[in-house]
Amino acid sequence: MISMQVQVISPGIYTYGAMVVGGLLKAAGARVTLHRTFSGAPAGMVFLSLFSTQHLLDPVIRAFIASARKQGAPCYVGGPVSAVPEMVLGELAPDAVIIGEGEPVIPPLLSRGSPDGIPGTAYSRDGEIIINPPVPPRTLDRPLPLIPEDIGDQDIRGANVYIETHRGCLGACSFCQVPRFFGRTIRSREIGDILAEVRAFRESGARRISISGGTGSLYQYRDGALDPGSFINLLSGLAEIMGPRNVSAPDIRVDCISDEILDAIRKYTIGWVFFGVESGSTRMLTQMGKGVSVPQISDAIAACRQHKLAVAGSFIVGYPTEEADDYEQTKDFITGNPFDDIFVSIAEPLPSTPLASLALRTPREENPLFIAHTGEYRPLGFSEAEARFFDLSLHGAMWRTRPLLVAGQAYDAFLGEARKQGREIRAVYNLLERYNQP
Ligand code: SF4
Repeated sequence: MISMQVQVISPGIYTYGAMVVGGLLKAAGARVTLHRTFSGAPAGMVFLSLFSTQHLLDPVIRAFIASARKQGAPCYVGGPVSAVPEMVLGELAPDAVIIGEGEPVIPPLLSRGSPDGIPGTAYSRDGEIIINPPVPPRTLDRPLPLIPEDIGDQDIRGANVYIETHRGCLGACSFCQVPRFFGRTIRSREIGDILAEVRAFRESGARRISISGGTGSLYQYRDGALDPGSFINLLSGLAEIMGPRNVSAPDIRVDCISDEILDAIRKYTIGWVFFGVESGSTRMLTQMGKGVSVPQISDAIAACRQHKLAVAGSFIVGYPTEEADDYEQTKDFITGNPFDDIFVSIAEPLPSTPLASLALRTPREENPLFIAHTGEYRPLGFSEAEARFFDLSLHGAMWRTRPLLVAGQAYDAFLGEARKQGREIRAVYNLLERYNQP
């Protein structure tokens, strides 16, 4: 029997999810190739792993899918964009959408060659959209991912790859898809499976690995309690394989740390912690559903300093209900709590999140993303959200532990990024409105 040829494509980078899908397909008997560009012609069966709402608006992706279907190559789309399958079907018109977690869907899809009736798929039939609700996998045991030969060349915030240790998050942040995609119950992988996978990455040329987004210390969380011992064993195992200077466990909630956890991060990783701070305004933290207070964030930063860890923080500006005073409180917070690095983004309403509902409910004339900025950056033609992005990027650079002088190319980069984010997020608003989709 000749095995099916399958292309797995994730635009721009080899995502971990695409590699997992590749591994599942290979284990099911397919001849799989993994790609991060659309330069080749579609052949066999095509799986697209799409992780940004912008992918739904990308003419290159749209044309590739149309070409695949014209040539009779079945084309399936999965990944975080599957949160609203109607939107994927409407914008990209693939043969089907794989909703949520792919493990239970891929083997039957490959063997039957059709999504009909498979739980976790959505497709159009005679002008009607059929949605078969997903069923989460019974276990997170799975074959090794398909690792590309050039994985060592990939650089995602300093790591070749972000590996998965568990699924789910206890948080309910209004802007985040993680609890909607994976649920709020923590499901952890076996440590032996994780370490075997990391060895395979190292043997394939990966030099630096990171634990993927969410909160690393929720690994093996159960019965309402963290399990620091399991998290520490995990870090120690990763460090033994890769070397501690080649492991990072960056993302962590400020309410999921302890002295022993911070000690282990210091001992077994590059020594950075990344907090999703988002805002210095209690009012905004409440609206965002962060579940933590401003003093808790300050305390967490101080605890990291005691453990000699570097601290990065990410901030969100231009939340639909953010007012000038909230924004000023964020600036004050940064001034009073210097970070080693700061990342700023304009609030993006990802489909299916509470933020998307709020974005649609907020009149545009009250939303900072659509209000023209009338302050000191007026000559730059910014919206208020873009002006806050630009201003906070400059402010954050100046108040870092090692201040950065922003001029020339760095200044232009902030300027360009402010405009790009504003433009792209306004396009997301239009998309949400088109599908009336909170
Ligand atoms: S803590 Fe992080 S992963 Fe969890 S819901 Fe909030 S932003 Fe998402």
